[in-house]
Amino acid sequence: MWRVAAVRALWGGGVGAPRAASGAAAAQLRRRLESELEDIRGAGTWKSERVIASRQGPRLRLAGGGAEIINFCANNYLGLSSHPEVIRAAAEALEKFGAGLSSVRFICGTQSIHKDLEEKIARFHQREDAILYASCFDANAGFFEALLTPEDAVLSDELNHASIIDGIRLCKANKYRYKHMDMQDLEAKLKEAQKHRLRLVATDGAFSMDGDIAPLREICQLAQKYNALVFIDECHATGFLGPSGRGTDELLGVMDKVTIINSTLGKALGGAAGGYTTGPKPLIDLLRQRSRPYLFSNSLPPAVVGCASKALDLLMESNAIAQSMAAKTQRFRSKMTAAGFTISGKDHPICPVMLGDARLASVMAEDMLNRGIYVIGFSYPVVPKGKARIRVQISAVHSDEDIDRCVEAFTEVGRKHGALS
Ligand code: PLP
Repeated sequence: MWRVAAVRALWGGGVGAPRAASGAAAAQLRRRLESELEDIRGAGTWKSERVIASRQGPRLRLAGGGAEIINFCANNYLGLSSHPEVIRAAAEALEKFGAGLSSVRFICGTQSIHKDLEEKIARFHQREDAILYASCFDANAGFFEALLTPEDAVLSDELNHASIIDGIRLCKANKYRYKHMDMQDLEAKLKEAQKHRLRLVATDGAFSMDGDIAPLREICQLAQKYNALVFIDECHATGFLGPSGRGTDELLGVMDKVTIINSTLGKALGGAAGGYTTGPKPLIDLLRQRSRPYLFSNSLPPAVVGCASKALDLLMESNAIAQSMAAKTQRFRSKMTAAGFTISGKDHPICPVMLGDARLASVMAEDMLNRGIYVIGFSYPVVPKGKARIRVQISAVHSDEDIDRCVEAFTEVGRKHGALS
């Protein structure tokens, strides 16, 4: 009750009435913003948000009613976002350690559960140490600047995630961008970069728009030849790629050749939030001293730490969940290919159904939703012009029937729109 009274006092009894700022500058700002928003709508790149009224999971209800839909567009690869043990662990951490720390880590924001989770992450990846961030976006934003100086060089795949690109922008190293997964181009850039003190090759382990996997063996061979370090972003790999779900480095047999891994707790590992860097201990020690998103942002909330910690326990106990996801991915990819669709990438639960035309991708995605299948169409500028697609993401908690219903719906909708020969 006191909260309601306090809010009423603050807003003079009427909660909810927004007050527009007055003055010429505010009016000018409003006009500029409205015109920018109109441009975005005009360009056809407006992103609207569907409101979900249930937990994240293979089946969802959207706000406003309607039937349950089957969800194929979350990064909930292992279905842990609504796993009962993960939810229980979050509730226990909330109860025992409170809602949050009201502090950054180095002032009074480090609890035993933060240290335990960092140790568990390092053990999972077989690295020396790990450091937590509020997100992997922050881990990427804080990593390059803390490590690289104008004497150094960073070589980045042109299709790396926006957060890697932004992290690299923030650092003062010499920047080289190599063509997507093009080893000849990477070698040429490594030769050019020999003049610098230190070379770091940075790549996504798995690329989220195409479901393709970086050629890490070749990257590591080149890195060895030209005395470079390798950094990978494993957001779309941690927990499920490789025989025991350690990620792309395990899948491709180069765990001892990749020096630094950044990844997220917000996708396969429970889906709450959070990110991390794992690697050599002195590097992690340096990040704790220098990395700005770590130093100047609040600690991860205990419930979030509880989720991720339990997710890692489940994955370290058994790889059954990851294997179930791999089998479902295989089922979807082979049935869709047999139906006549082109699916980009290989063996990855990100299954982009390639359609080419932006309008086709958008109307087909809408028609799929009308048939109870939730998928999203992607077109320029998110993907190159002429390469529009519907991205389907498979989860361990999809049933075989869910997968088959999705393929049937694609086949019907594809025929209707002439996307199948
Ligand atoms: N890196 C990649 C490759 C991603 O796909 C994402 C999320 O979309 C991120 C980093 C950012 O992760 P987080 O959601 O933890 O900030």
